[in-house]
Amino acid sequence: MKVRLVQGSSNLCFELVDDVTGVSLEFIQSDWEYPHLARMFGWSPCECRATDGTVDCDHKTASEMISEAYDHLSNSDGEVIDTDDYEKREEHDASSRSRH
Ligand SMILES: [Zn+2]
Repeated sequence: MKVRLVQGSSNLCFELVDDVTGVSLEFIQSDWEYPHLARMFGWSPCECRATDGTVDCDHKTASEMISEAYDHLSNSDGEVIDTDDYEKREEHDASSRSRH
């Protein structure tokens, strides 16, 4: 599915919209959801991959990562991604994590 990121008029919320039908899929208004959303749009919380962006790792705090995620989302306003690609990438990440 192709989804488009739209930054809300308050700037603090984001919306995912089906790029084909224009139907609104999801509203993201909570800070804690920014890292997950930003990852869909190519951001990664930390090189160590020990965190999903909502918990501290050895290098960064969760609040630093959430604010980076927010910046990334602001810069990605209007971008379209394919969620199938994202899911494949996540599966790959999960399997490389379990090998450690
Ligand atoms: Zn780290």
